[in-house]
Amino acid sequence: MQITQTECTSILTRTSGYLKGVCSHSLNPYVGCGYGNSSCGKGCYVRFNQWLNRGREWGEFVDVKVNADDVYLNTVQAERRWAIQRGIPFSIFFSSSTDPWQPIERKFRITQKVLGAMSVETPDVLILQTHGSIIIDDMERIIAISKRCDLRVHISIEGDQDNLPGLPPPPCSVDERISLVKEFSSRGITVVVCMSPLYPLIDPDHFFSQLAESGASAVVIDHFIEGDGTQDGSRTWRTMLPLAIKLVNEQALDLSYRDKVASIARKYLSVGISSSGFAGVYSFEPDFIKGGSRI
Ligand code: SF4
Repeated sequence: MQITQTECTSILTRTSGYLKGVCSHSLNPYVGCGYGNSSCGKGCYVRFNQWLNRGREWGEFVDVKVNADDVYLNTVQAERRWAIQRGIPFSIFFSSSTDPWQPIERKFRITQKVLGAMSVETPDVLILQTHGSIIIDDMERIIAISKRCDLRVHISIEGDQDNLPGLPPPPCSVDERISLVKEFSSRGITVVVCMSPLYPLIDPDHFFSQLAESGASAVVIDHFIEGDGTQDGSRTWRTMLPLAIKLVNEQALDLSYRDKVASIARKYLSVGISSSGFAGVYSFEPDFIKGGSRI
């Protein structure tokens, strides 16, 4: 793994494309991801982003933005004003192209320092997205920030199996991630499980009842078709993931599989679909829910 410490000049990126309706800004404390050689990394749509990778192999490098917290504090007022001028909440997706709690976070604590900066300059909405269990180190900081803004933790759990054929293991097991959901929700934090991208499920009823019992507020179901920043899933078709899905259940390659799974999930908990789900729009059987409250 090639680790490079870099000084960034900006840290709050105004969103476009898939994320535009989700948050006003994204924040990535690292470039690259230490989970890039795990199962999620093999299907990760960022792996072919040449602007980020600059010819390097996904999973083999991480650039550490050592001054991310200072840059956040220096630029947050201007970015907050930019959002206000557009009539949208100053809302941050943390992170869109890396995992804030990847293993190297335990050495550099860039994410932790940014959370410290956010406790001084708190956004209106904060979405924390991770695949791994290292987020538990920041439980108390996250709870403190949640008292000052609309905060939710998104835990990625793509399916009910730890392994898909031909793919390496995930960053942490499905059971460990469900335990994380329990720990955060039991402390009053809104937790949303993100099946992104959706993997084939072996026992959907059991899985969704487990999520409901764990205290998850909602589940977002996001097929790689329409979910990887392209309408046809073309970024993901270039990866190993479609073959692994096909070997378990060929029907899961079709977008209609997302809707079948969603109709089962709605029996147990609130469900969001793709980008609108990431934005906090959920439906539950039979009433429509937005932002977690029934309307
Ligand atoms: S944790 Fe997220 S950013 Fe990192 S490899 Fe997995 S899917 Fe990609």
